[in-house]
Amino acid sequence: MIKFLDIAKINQKYKIDFLNMVSKVIDKGQLILGDEVQAFEKEYTEYIGTNYCIGVGNGLDALRLIFRAYLELGVFKPDDEIIVPANTYIASILAISDNHLKPILVEPNLETYNINPDNLEKAITSKTKAILIVHLYGQNALTDKIFEIAKKYDLKIIEDNAQAHGAMYKGKRTGSLGEAAGHSFYPGKILGALGDGGAVTTNNKYLADVIRTLGNYGSSQKYVHNFKGLNSRLDELQAAFLRIKLPYLESDNKVRRNIAAYYSEQLDPDKFILPKLIDNSQSIINNLSHVWHLYVIRHPERDRLQKYLLDNGVETIIHYPIPPHKQKAYSEYSYLSLPITEKIHNEVLSLPISQVQTIDDTKKIVGILNKFI
Ligand SMILES: *Cc1c(COP(=O)(O)O)cnc(C)c1O
Repeated sequence: MIKFLDIAKINQKYKIDFLNMVSKVIDKGQLILGDEVQAFEKEYTEYIGTNYCIGVGNGLDALRLIFRAYLELGVFKPDDEIIVPANTYIASILAISDNHLKPILVEPNLETYNINPDNLEKAITSKTKAILIVHLYGQNALTDKIFEIAKKYDLKIIEDNAQAHGAMYKGKRTGSLGEAAGHSFYPGKILGALGDGGAVTTNNKYLADVIRTLGNYGSSQKYVHNFKGLNSRLDELQAAFLRIKLPYLESDNKVRRNIAAYYSEQLDPDKFILPKLIDNSQSIINNLSHVWHLYVIRHPERDRLQKYLLDNGVETIIHYPIPPHKQKAYSEYSYLSLPITEKIHNEVLSLPISQVQTIDDTKKIVGILNKFI
């Protein structure tokens, strides 16, 4: 069986270093907000290219804390509207509604799966305060048009960078392009910890200070509480593990780009709808706008295709089978008709891709796929 994602194999390479690190952290005895968190935050700001990074408990909390901070600062008010792509993972939307803000679901582009800039202006009202940009499947979603619209209507751009660590737009990394960004280090993400983890990156010092305080019980000085905060901190051990893996992120992204290029060259384009790049001025191998967290194809008989692959020893996953507006949790949105989003959820299939996938396995997958009838 070719696994969809072999997390054990990904982490095997670092096992000795991880174990040595556990021993080091135990000996130091500083298990919460110690040197490792501080060092990781510094190294991650250098990688992403922002002035500040705040380690938090997970990717959802990173986004929740950004919205919460804007509420505390009086920039957003309850019931303000936040534009978000309708086909994102539900966490993006939960972060908005959890803060009593209103998610406005906007249809994506059917070719790139990222938010369609042409649909933005008609979604804007006097209550719109921000656009939550999701770099879905690992591809940068920001375009000049989105920046222009944000400027014209005075909207904040917030990035959900849970799937795109290392992707670039005009020489800058996603996560440094908007006012603030949420990152996830969930084990299956491109930069994965050995458990939950997340971070916020931003260039805004006030925002960074408020987020850091909010994630630590609303306190920046022990036993003095300026906000009704929560407890969401990046674990010291997870930060130490992430420091071991971060130096390999660039080369890992390169390996996945090579696999994506092979899929796109070899898969039969008459049989499958293959992923498209927003900026297709370069070949996949040289195109830094996509880090290929997921390689997603479409087929009208997706479920039959998935079963065929499984019968032939290839595990695949659907990202995602049910769109947020069709989830019971968001029954208030069930009246919405979002045909592009619904089509995507009915047809997408994510093929195996990772930094440890062998060329032999990739070839095998292509051979099996091209024989599908
Ligand atoms: C994974 C993910 C999140 C949430 O991250 P967690 O660390 O799992 O909380 C948010 N948004 C997107 C797009 C994701 O893929």
